[in-house]
Amino acid sequence: MIIHSEQEMLDFGESFTKQFVKTIPKSSNVIELVGDVGAGKTTFVRGLAKGLGLSEPITSPSFTISKQYSLPGSKRLVHYDFYRLSDPGLMSEDLQENLNDQNAIIIIEWGDSISNLLPSDHTKITIKYNNDNTRTVEL
Ligand code: ADP
Ligand code: MG
Repeated sequence: MIIHSEQEMLDFGESFTKQFVKTIPKSSNVIELVGDVGAGKTTFVRGLAKGLGLSEPITSPSFTISKQYSLPGSKRLVHYDFYRLSDPGLMSEDLQENLNDQNAIIIIEWGDSISNLLPSDHTKITIKYNNDNTRTVEL
């Protein structure tokens, strides 16, 4: 799929999320985002947050590694960014707890160092930067 603009990425994140949340009781509660710096991963998360009914702004959790947002109906959005973290340390326990919590909706950027923790059926979205500012998105 080709995404032509930032707005289209926000809209895609928003609509994808609405579908994804419906599947959580049956399948994995985690989305892994793969793509280079500037590909649009965090932009996707901003769309996702809107789809979940969040009004507060999403900023990249690069320095804190994770950020949590309360959602309507006792659910939580947990956004991880493991950029340049070769050893996730205690963060892997934090992630494990959230993976086991049906009320957590988890989205991960740069998940290489914790990929062994992710369930095999997790959703993986790859975003590739194209020269004309469009993005190619693969599920
Ligand atoms: P990442 O989290 O992958 O490093 P960001 O989402 O933080 O990337 O940044 C992507 C940047 O690219 C944003 O500034 C966004 O406005 C811009 N952009 C331009 N075109 C697109 C597009 N088609 N899809 C997503 N982002 C785009
Ligand atoms: Mg990012």
